[in-house]
Amino acid sequence: MTNFLVAANPRGGPGYRFPAAAPADVGEAAQRLRTAQPDWAALAVEERLALLGQWCEALRAIGPDLVAALTEDTGRALLSQAELDGALRRIEHWRRKSPALLSTPSQGVSESAPSVHYEHRRDPLGLVAVISPWNFPLLLTLIDAVPALTAGCAVLAKPSEHTPRFVAPLMESVGSVPALASVFQCSLGGPEAGAAAVNCADAVCFTGSVATGRKVGALAGERLIPAFLELGGKDPLIVLADADVEDAARIALRGSVIATGQACQSIERVYVHQSLYDSFVAKLVATASAVTLNTERVDRGHLGPFIDPRQAQLVEAQLEDAQVNGASLLCGGLVRRNGGAWCAPVVLTGVRHEMRLYREETFGPVLPVMPFADDDEAVDLANDSEFGLSAAVLGERAHALSVAARLRAGAVSINDAGLTSQVGDVEKDSYGASGVGKSRMGSSGLLRFLRRQALLVQTAPAASLDAFKEVERQTA
Ligand code: NAD
Repeated sequence: MTNFLVAANPRGGPGYRFPAAAPADVGEAAQRLRTAQPDWAALAVEERLALLGQWCEALRAIGPDLVAALTEDTGRALLSQAELDGALRRIEHWRRKSPALLSTPSQGVSESAPSVHYEHRRDPLGLVAVISPWNFPLLLTLIDAVPALTAGCAVLAKPSEHTPRFVAPLMESVGSVPALASVFQCSLGGPEAGAAAVNCADAVCFTGSVATGRKVGALAGERLIPAFLELGGKDPLIVLADADVEDAARIALRGSVIATGQACQSIERVYVHQSLYDSFVAKLVATASAVTLNTERVDRGHLGPFIDPRQAQLVEAQLEDAQVNGASLLCGGLVRRNGGAWCAPVVLTGVRHEMRLYREETFGPVLPVMPFADDDEAVDLANDSEFGLSAAVLGERAHALSVAARLRAGAVSINDAGLTSQVGDVEKDSYGASGVGKSRMGSSGLLRFLRRQALLVQTAPAASLDAFKEVERQTA
């Protein structure tokens, strides 16, 4: 019997009912993909890239439908268009970069055994499961799927059950390129479908929460398949004594509240040198109070609603916990309309690291601000977190760089925030609970999908067993 799920409408109103794939359906899709993958891998790189180019055209043609579906899924218009544009840029990026990356297998002479010459063959991992979250549904599915396909793998995507509407137009575009459709499928569903995808794949790319990442990692560990886990963050922003206060308030606000804070690289903690603290807080409150919500029309205002309504409850609970424990809420808060939930940017002072909003990811437009006395204290505060995704430091360049190098964060933006959302070609590795596995950014974003097989050629006479025979040692 088909199991149906309902995805809420972030702006309120009726939800979207869709059939969820049962584990058996996922297994059958995986089997079909597996059968087609060797032919896909056998194509010359240029042929695969040409097919991906055809798909790009189809994606552009269906763009308006895709953006409309994403807008329904996420309750925001401009960012939905930006998501499609970003996804197209990622495909073009790999089309440009991969010929060079894939055409140079390394070869040479072993240093430890000079009679052995070697050559590396690259073998695609096979079937890759791509499990993605709801905050940027299209981009975070294609960010791993496209390089995996480019490398010659087949992809079974399992997008979030909270944002399923974009999948139909996406797969329509894929269907217009039959060779691609034979190696790229989506299975819609919840945790069960996700676990089934991990169970039948040769590798898994997972983007999502730490809690689910642990489960996916454990399952991948049991099956001994590679797992690339991109998990949550609690990014700090440090405003050094030599920063410009006006710029700092502007950067902190954008870095925290863009996409309603529903981005892994959102700024969720702000630390300000005590000499700038009062003026920073005053400027931040002034700019934050001017932010508008798209409650009336999806194509107006700065911020959309919470995509998953449960997120609003979590943010509300964290704010309540902070206030009960002595924090002052200087502006902003939850706004509920017609069944949807929005949040005007919140600035909090009088905060402490024991509060829930420092220990858990918030994923909302919330800026707790804390003063520090010197660089050492700022570094200690920023590093006091189980997360280590990214961070930001504002100040004189050399000073900011020296502080940045002491942070446990995979990428540190200097004199800006959230630069990882713009820079896809620079490798980075997360710290702590924010992820494990090779970087999805830079060259490794593609090369991680290729197993290197070493072909080792002996050019000298091969040793006989006698070389390993114990003989009585001569004594002097
Ligand atoms: P989530 O962990 O709840 O779900 C992510 C995906 O995993 C969904 O498709 C879900 O259906 C699937 N899933 C759930 N249980 C599963 C299981 N047992 N086995 C396999 N799959 C399962 O995350 P979410 O709430 O959708 O997304 C928000 C989280 O994603 C936040 O923590 C955010 O920080 C993180 N995120 C990280 C990055 C990054 O690049 N590091 C980017 C965006 C979002």
